[in-house]
Amino acid sequence: MKIKAVRARVFEWKGKTVPPQGNFCSNAMDLVYSKSETMSTFRFHSWTVVEIETDNGIVGLGNVALAPKIAKAIIDEYLAAMVIGEDPWDYEYLWQKMYRGTHAWGRKGVAMAAISAIDLAIWDILGKSVNKPVFKLLGGRTKEKIPCYYSKLYRTDLNEMQKEAQTFLDQGFKAFKMRFGYGPAHLQQGVVENLKSVAAVREVIGDDTDLMLECYMGWNLEYAKRMLPKLEKYAPRWLEEPVIADDIDGYAELNQLTSIPISGGEHEFSLYGFKQLLDRKAVSVVQYDTNRVGGITAAHKINALCEAYSVPVIPHAGQMHNYHLTMSTLASPMSEYFPMFDVEVGNELFYYIFDGEPVAKDGFIQLDDNTPGLGLTLKTEFLKDFNIIE
Ligand SMILES: [Mg+2]
Repeated sequence: MKIKAVRARVFEWKGKTVPPQGNFCSNAMDLVYSKSETMSTFRFHSWTVVEIETDNGIVGLGNVALAPKIAKAIIDEYLAAMVIGEDPWDYEYLWQKMYRGTHAWGRKGVAMAAISAIDLAIWDILGKSVNKPVFKLLGGRTKEKIPCYYSKLYRTDLNEMQKEAQTFLDQGFKAFKMRFGYGPAHLQQGVVENLKSVAAVREVIGDDTDLMLECYMGWNLEYAKRMLPKLEKYAPRWLEEPVIADDIDGYAELNQLTSIPISGGEHEFSLYGFKQLLDRKAVSVVQYDTNRVGGITAAHKINALCEAYSVPVIPHAGQMHNYHLTMSTLASPMSEYFPMFDVEVGNELFYYIFDGEPVAKDGFIQLDDNTPGLGLTLKTEFLKDFNIIE
């Protein structure tokens, strides 16, 4: 089997969108003077879809959501030529060829995301070529089904947040992640608002349900040090990305500060990036995203590293490419789950592009033993709502 063709297309959403409400979510741009609202920097309204075709007619599907047009350009200009004519079973060789072949300017960020998309398509091919789901190639089933946590609860009106939590509590979710709407720029009033929102959600879900707290890099070290002791009484399962991804010392300091575990990693890349985080005890929960971190080839190695360090891996974003790794890894106790809603921040867009994404039932998702590859196909229902760049 040889790789015959690589096609990268950008799917730009032009359908209906819901504007973010209220203070929505703190983010890294909050500390920079801005003339417009800052959340627009972090919307994901387009996606790169990669299709790799083999000489025996198998088509593998990969995807990347970071800077899609740039990722497409990197694939078109550099990566496609590195894998065409090669055997997809030589996936480690191909990964090293892409990683080392772009090393002078790549390594992290969008270059690694582009490599991830190719790697995902390659693993989809491998599964399809032997008629097995990808998780069966990675160690198989380590759990009957995957527990997942409900991940939305942006900072809107507190009553609305409580209603949202109640709705999904009633659907059987046993864990919830909420977003903070305020950071250092909002002074003490923002501190009070942040605490009110946590109290409001905790009141609805009760003490026997996990609560995760998300900062999305919108705080700084000083602010996080003030907030963490005040949050302890709400017993959060973790506090996510309090500071920007490069402030590893900040993560390490916060992770030792209180009983609250610090999580992160959705903006970290490669085995080396995670070795640094783990060596420094910077995070107590690892949250890579397979379509950023270097694909399945890299994520599988990071899982082994986390097992050795006894640090749980709970990948960012759910989605098929992450679920296969979670299913096959004892170090991975649960998954994030973005529910399907109208397109807002863009976390929902995956459902509009692909068929096959599992829907949670009673707080669990299931993977089928008999669906080969990653289990995704391109959806036709919403094609009219996308501008597709070839
Ligand atoms: Mg996050």
